[in-house]
Amino acid sequence: MITIIEKRTEKDPLAHIGENAGVCWNSDITDVEKNIKRGKSCIQSGHLRTAEYPTVEMIIEGYSARCIRELYTHIIGVTRLQDSTRYINFEDFAYYNPGSTEEQKEQIAKTMGDISENYGKLLELGMKKEDCANILPLGMHTKIVWKINLRGLMHFMNMRLCNRALKEIRTLAGEIKSKLSTYSDEWKWICDNYFVPSCKTIGYCTEEKCCGLMPKGLDGLKASIIEEYKKETAAN
Ligand SMILES: Cc1cc2nc3c(=O)[nH]c(=O)nc-3n(C[C@H](O)[C@H](O)[C@H](O)COP(=O)(O)OP(=O)(O)OC[C@H]3O[C@@H](n4cnc5c(N)ncnc54)[C@H](O)[C@@H]3O)c2cc1C
Repeated sequence: MITIIEKRTEKDPLAHIGENAGVCWNSDITDVEKNIKRGKSCIQSGHLRTAEYPTVEMIIEGYSARCIRELYTHIIGVTRLQDSTRYINFEDFAYYNPGSTEEQKEQIAKTMGDISENYGKLLELGMKKEDCANILPLGMHTKIVWKINLRGLMHFMNMRLCNRALKEIRTLAGEIKSKLSTYSDEWKWICDNYFVPSCKTIGYCTEEKCCGLMPKGLDGLKASIIEEYKKETAAN
């Protein structure tokens, strides 16, 4: 679950960007509509230092430590805090179950149950929580407070909405996008136009194992443009 922290997350990122850019150009920054227009223009032009001013602060929970480990590879424009395995009793931890059949789900549930039981036994044997935590699995749920600026978030979305990204982090990225889409009209514009897989921003896929959503590499893009051209000329 994603909770956008409303008192820390602005509703008007475009106006904010436009206002700051207006200062640089000695423009009238009292007109909100003009600020929004200028903000959109900055993003469309790729003047992305401006996108480092708006920030989003959110609580992310119900995702696995493994998924959050992947999120932590994004280091630019980001700050985070995570629930403590030293101070919290994780005997009854929740976890992500990726099983696609009942048997698989049951096997995972059994394994998690065993870990939980052993965590409890270690506590009974007098071990500190911070030491018991060494047996906790990557699949366990964790909770973090994540702060990221708009520039970092656009990049995160480009990478993590990609079909080649891990399923769970794709779901996480999709949930953040969905929450921000309804947060304000300005966020909706950003979500619709910029929170997309990277192939949709450059016109081709850079992944070795392309999912087929867009042509693979520049050669693929060139071939698809020629195909389109052939179809157009054949139709005329
Ligand atoms: C499909 C997929 C598979 C992946 N597989 C693996 C894997 O097997 N193992 C693994 O470890 N990771 C893997 N990753 C994570 C990936 O390699 C990146 O670490 C992660 O996506 C963060 O990307 P980033 O560094 O661009 O993001 P950010 O940290 O947000 O950085 C943003 C941008 O800032 C610049 N930048 C960041 N750090 C520096 C720096 N130190 N010096 C100069 N410029 C910098 C770069 O231009 C970068 O793109 C995978 C990601 C995807 C989407």
